[in-house]
Amino acid sequence: MAAIDALPPLRAVIAEHGLSARKALGQNFLLDLNLTARIARAAGDLAACDVLEIGPGPGGLTRGLLAEGARRVLAVEKDARCIPALAQIAEAYPGRLEIVEGDALAIDPLDRLTPPIRVAANLPYNIGTELLVRWLTPRDWPPFWESLTLMFQREVAQRIVAQPGSKAYGRLAILAQWRSDARIVLDLPPQAFTPPPKVSSAVVHLTALPSPRFPADPAVLSRLVAAGFNQRRKMLRASLRGLAGDMEDLLTAVGIPPTARAEEIELERWCALARACANS
Ligand code: SAM
Repeated sequence: MAAIDALPPLRAVIAEHGLSARKALGQNFLLDLNLTARIARAAGDLAACDVLEIGPGPGGLTRGLLAEGARRVLAVEKDARCIPALAQIAEAYPGRLEIVEGDALAIDPLDRLTPPIRVAANLPYNIGTELLVRWLTPRDWPPFWESLTLMFQREVAQRIVAQPGSKAYGRLAILAQWRSDARIVLDLPPQAFTPPPKVSSAVVHLTALPSPRFPADPAVLSRLVAAGFNQRRKMLRASLRGLAGDMEDLLTAVGIPPTARAEEIELERWCALARACANS
């Protein structure tokens, strides 16, 4: 298959820069440039967008994003060994790739990028959920990003798109579906990565809605669903006790039976409960 640019194959890049994978950094690399091009395409039309990429590693997805026409890419990588490899890509795409050596959890993307902004990443699994929740729960909406195209362990991807009544339904589904359209766009077996992780993966594409589906305070909603799903076998009158006024009355007032369990309650009712709690 044709390479997407004139840079060396990723295996050669890894050998040249001594990028043996480190488990502590969640390093499972994608070395197939056709695959990274597919993930870049799943991020949508990049031509008029700046792209934030977390954890570029040797740069397979970075190359896909640039080849797909991203206006600019900001790539944030914690592993200093990857920086010279990424610098070669920056040379091949003058003025379009900015590399930051650092921790993605400590970066404010708006310091360096101009909207519209899309986020695309084969995330380190240990910080993936934390970053997603952070991107979904800012006080104000719409957020800095138009879309997120992110790799997760398949089990986490399923939690993001889960519907009420299923085991996977919980805090992630509610926070994601409250303010975005979320769907799984690609399933990947462990062998797609080097080294292969223990579990399968999936790419989730989330598009920010112009405003949340139902009004609610993000902090109150987050607190409620965290408490409700932390003890998901308990009835809500027990798992939510103490979070606001008379919880049993509040539940009844918004049409939730106090004996119901968290996984039975659809998004609209969670938001109604968050509003009732905020006003109590
Ligand atoms: N994007 C590359 C690919 O698809 O081949 C690498 C993906 S690998 C799963 C995750 C990458 O995130 C690694 O390069 C790792 O060094 C980097 N990383 C881990 N923790 C990070 C953090 N806190 N901030 C930024 N990058 C991080």
